[in-house]
Amino acid sequence: MESNAIRAIDPEIADLIAQEERRQRDVLRLIPSENYASAAVMAATGTCLTNKYSEGYPGKRYYQGQQYCDAIEQLAIDRARALFGADHANVQPYSGSPANLAVYFALLNAGDTLMGMALPHGGHLTHGWNVTISGKFYDVVQYGVRPTDHRIDLDQVARLARERRPKLIVCGASAYPRIIDFAAFAEIAREVGALLLADIAHIAGLVAGGAHPSPVPVADVVSTTTHKTLRGPRGGMILCKAEHAKAIDRAVFPGLQGGPHDHTTAAVAVALKEAASPDFGRYARAVVENAKALAERLMHHGFELVSGGTDNHLLLIDLSNKQVPGKVAAQALERAGIVCNANSVPFDTRKPFDPSGIRLGTPAITSRGMGIDEMRRLGDWVAAVVAAPDDAALLARIAAEVRSLCEQFPAPGL
Ligand SMILES: *Cc1c(COP(=O)(O)O)cnc(C)c1O
Repeated sequence: MESNAIRAIDPEIADLIAQEERRQRDVLRLIPSENYASAAVMAATGTCLTNKYSEGYPGKRYYQGQQYCDAIEQLAIDRARALFGADHANVQPYSGSPANLAVYFALLNAGDTLMGMALPHGGHLTHGWNVTISGKFYDVVQYGVRPTDHRIDLDQVARLARERRPKLIVCGASAYPRIIDFAAFAEIAREVGALLLADIAHIAGLVAGGAHPSPVPVADVVSTTTHKTLRGPRGGMILCKAEHAKAIDRAVFPGLQGGPHDHTTAAVAVALKEAASPDFGRYARAVVENAKALAERLMHHGFELVSGGTDNHLLLIDLSNKQVPGKVAAQALERAGIVCNANSVPFDTRKPFDPSGIRLGTPAITSRGMGIDEMRRLGDWVAAVVAAPDDAALLARIAAEVRSLCEQFPAPGL
């Protein structure tokens, strides 16, 4: 898919893109937030729409020449509302983090109380972690998982909510392998007079495809990225009840952003069309089935999974019992053609930059069409690598096997 136009001007960048493309083709990509966007989605991002300024919203813009960009953004909005069954959709956030910031800006004042899941327990940075603007500009309360079963401790959520009376409760996570009980969060929020934000950045594709319950009926606002399981371009989106529509739109523009990325909006519209197809429902279910199969195979090899398994697209593995730190494992796995990330596990005794676990996800390899048999092979490879992370010959042999498996399952869009 390389563009000759890039090579003609800038062979250095063209070479690097070509090498990255080869990497994405030849390795098993298990980072749960990554995926393969379709050729149609990627083509939409590389169009003349990048030349346009469209500050405002369809029919209410600050510049002329919007006849086509209005139609494109309206299609994206209509498709988002239809796919998720939402009253209102804003498709302009540049990514997931600015989407969350816009929600906070819409619903909170500086200093108000914000409750979210702690990063070390699987929450996202933007849910109130202290190094981010969400942790500095708001009075933050953090909840986590139980030490016994690694499930979200809804009793703790209710207790903290009653004590601290947050104005906004955030549910949703980046490293939580279980179904999130959105209805229970909504009930707690209602009891204490808080609004509920469900951040489905990781699981939006599963929700769209019917493989995870939707928060849209019960949450006041739902935020998401568009590039993870939803398989769109890099971007963000906010869905909300009609009563919050105005505040959300104003918070995105002019509150936080300038002109929307029209080329991304078009690609989001394409991805939403793809996500509405029956094929996508099959994809979402296969992502979960593959994650369960991989989890089973790894447990068969003696791996300890946080929460004892998975209900969604990701697995969090605590490597403490294998005497291999997460980073060592992640680096050895990469040499074997298996790309994941080191990750903290709940109640981790090691430092965040050198944690005890690794996080694996099935969205990208499922987009290549891999299934249960491939998950078993993958589980066996992971076990072999973690058992001998310094065995260069073993890692090279597995990398070659991975490459030949990848050849049988062409990556979409590349
Ligand atoms: C990935 C993620 C985000 C942020 O998305 P970016 O596009 O990286 O800014 C927000 N919330 C959750 C739960 C995420 O997993």
